[in-house]
Amino acid sequence: MKNLIFLGPPGSGKGTQAVKLAEKIGVLHLSTGDLLRTAVKEGTELGKQAKQYMERGELVPDELLIGLIESKVTNGDLDNGFILDGFPRTVPQAESLDGMFEKNNMKLDAAILLQVSDEEVVKRLSGRWFCPKCQRTYNFPANMPKQEGICDDDGEKLQRRPDDEEAVVRNRLEVYKKQTQPIEDYYRKKSVLIEVNGEQSPDSVFNDLLKVVGSQVTEERI
Ligand code: ADP
Ligand code: ADP
Repeated sequence: MKNLIFLGPPGSGKGTQAVKLAEKIGVLHLSTGDLLRTAVKEGTELGKQAKQYMERGELVPDELLIGLIESKVTNGDLDNGFILDGFPRTVPQAESLDGMFEKNNMKLDAAILLQVSDEEVVKRLSGRWFCPKCQRTYNFPANMPKQEGICDDDGEKLQRRPDDEEAVVRNRLEVYKKQTQPIEDYYRKKSVLIEVNGEQSPDSVFNDLLKVVGSQVTEERI
């Protein structure tokens, strides 16, 4: 399996797992959240349009995201396999993606859903820190960097995401239930939805994911 979508509420571990899995199976990791945050930081046209929605924990309009992904598909960026992390997030986005795949003779192998409870989401996101340079995420206290507040990989000072403030997190959970959860059924009906328990240790979740994608499971700590 090389063409994958990751689904799950904010904080379910999509980014954490997608980075590792993409590296392990040698495919592209494409996070729309990361792309949008970079666009906001760089002040591009996309960033200017997306900023206000992201700050409120709302979804950025479909046409902006669909255009963004379409350009990646057309450029051939997804040709050697991919994990889409954070896209699609609405039924119209899922339908557009199907259209893009059809047009480019591509096939989705699985939509993997990371299941995590609301309480766990709020707990995880109140402790999420990230590196603004490489986007790696950490967690206080579950997954701390070696040196407090500093990225292990590049020594950059870690930051908090403004949309991880509790009131915004609660709104993002509502938005997930109303606008994104319907695509779970969309993929279930297409028989490509695979559910994974995301409320285990990161290593256990990763081992389950390896079983799903058919890669060899090893005992090494990943
Ligand atoms: P999380 O990792 O917490 O699930 P993301 O980093 O994927 O969140 O996304 C952060 C924000 O970026 C979202 O709250 C939303 O405003 C915007 N966003 C990301 N992907 C999409 C998308 N596919 N459609 C609309 N908005 C999106
Ligand atoms: P998402 O991309 O779905 O929003 P992240 O991968 O950014 O989620 O994870 C959200 C937070 O929870 C981060 O601080 C991350 O370090 C932490 N985290 C990820 N997976 C687990 C896990 N299995 N158990 C505990 N904390 C986790």
